[in-house]
Amino acid sequence: MYYRPTKISGRQRLRAILHQRCPRCCQGGVFRGVVAMREECMVCGFHFGREEGYFVGAMYASYFLALGVLGVIFGILWLLLRSVWSIRWIMGLTVVFFLPCVPTIFRYSRVLWMHIDWMIDPDQPGNLN
Ligand SMILES: [Zn+2]
Repeated sequence: MYYRPTKISGRQRLRAILHQRCPRCCQGGVFRGVVAMREECMVCGFHFGREEGYFVGAMYASYFLALGVLGVIFGILWLLLRSVWSIRWIMGLTVVFFLPCVPTIFRYSRVLWMHIDWMIDPDQPGNLN
């Protein structure tokens, strides 16, 4: 199957990231479970793990996403509880509220990484079917 890439607008790219879609065609879903990824796009056949250790780069995206989420949770709790609780208890409660967000951060970090990588380096030998 040969997939001919079409021009993707910024709005389409943003929508694909939000809906966790393939970086090449922006249509095929990346995940088949909560954290289980598909090997290839069901629409265009793009192989998501472009090379060995490809998703190590997603850790950078994960770090910044987690930092933002932790900051927002801490900020809200700080505003609500600063007169009642010490900063240590607020930080502990921040972690408790953060833990359910981890699967979502994991998913978005991988999708974000794939889209950034695709925008920088769209055509790799072996990725065009
Ligand atoms: Zn695709």
